[in-house]
Amino acid sequence: MTAPLFNRMALIGVGLIGSSIARAARAQGLVRSIVATARSVETRARVAELGIADRVVDSNLAAVEGADLVILCIPVGQCGAVAEEIAPRLAPGAILSDVGSVKAAIVRDVGPHVPAGVHFVPAHPVAGTENSGPDAGFAELFINRWCILTPPEGTDPGATDKLATFWSALGANVETMTPEHHDLVLAITSHLPHLIAYTIVGTADELEQVTRSEVLKFSAGGFRDFTRIAASDPTMWRDVFLANKDAVLEMLGTFSEDLATLTRAIRRGDGDTLFELFTRTRAIRRGIVSIGQDSDTPDFGRPHDKLPPLPRPYMADGE
Ligand code: NAP
Repeated sequence: MTAPLFNRMALIGVGLIGSSIARAARAQGLVRSIVATARSVETRARVAELGIADRVVDSNLAAVEGADLVILCIPVGQCGAVAEEIAPRLAPGAILSDVGSVKAAIVRDVGPHVPAGVHFVPAHPVAGTENSGPDAGFAELFINRWCILTPPEGTDPGATDKLATFWSALGANVETMTPEHHDLVLAITSHLPHLIAYTIVGTADELEQVTRSEVLKFSAGGFRDFTRIAASDPTMWRDVFLANKDAVLEMLGTFSEDLATLTRAIRRGDGDTLFELFTRTRAIRRGIVSIGQDSDTPDFGRPHDKLPPLPRPYMADGE
């Protein structure tokens, strides 16, 4: 058996992402022990009950003591203050990382607090669900998903490699890029889609001529998929939009122009423009399925085997 990669991993925050890391790291034997903490007594008690950490402590400072890997698994907006709080107890040689969905703001807010001798390697596992909290996590969350590392200039390459090995062992494909490039890519692939989902579901909720019960009852595939995304954690997503303001506004500008083109096409009855776009986007979807980033099962994620059987076929009297 190979030796664990890290002796002690400290997780600050044990929600969906933190608890998934804990479960997967333990399953893979990547760390000798796991110390965890969360903000509230309730979450800490639940983490202790679930037994996903070896020790649950009640302060961020106590959690990082003696850890050679510290991962901030908290909302992006909290990372700067927590980094300042834990800095005095970070062990020399330790790797400090995070899982935030925005990277330039993390480098800006956390970087200045990192003591000399501690290796700061920000990370973003591009994996998640709309659920939150320690019960929502699962060990398989990162399998075949991407984890993007954004080490600031001058980071020890050995530390980056070690964290890349850690994420690979959790099942992720690892890629390295600058924080700014990460934020631009994620603005279009993740942040803008969430903004659109929040908008559509909000708009449907405010329609006066259509009742809320009709929206729920007749929510066809498209709308239903948006409601899943729009159920994502409000704190996390508020922080993402505040922290990635510039890239999101840039993508939103382009999106608005494209929406105006489609609006004009519909108004003018220009079917060719609509057809050409829908053909291109269908090819993109097929590309995503073909590289294994989603399934082509109809209504992905729905437990087909648990659906009630179809009603008996209609038979005319006497048959
Ligand atoms: P979550 O399920 O809501 O968990 C957040 C955890 O952070 C909770 O345990 C919370 O404790 C704790 N926390 C918050 N502020 C804290 C503080 N000041 N000190 C100590 N603990 C604190 O959130 P999540 O979905 O795991 O997201 C965590 C991070 O992962 C975010 O930065 C997000 O951008 C990133 N991320 C999320 C996803 C996703 O799909 N959800 C995907 C990739 C990356 P309490 O429960 O006691 O409040």
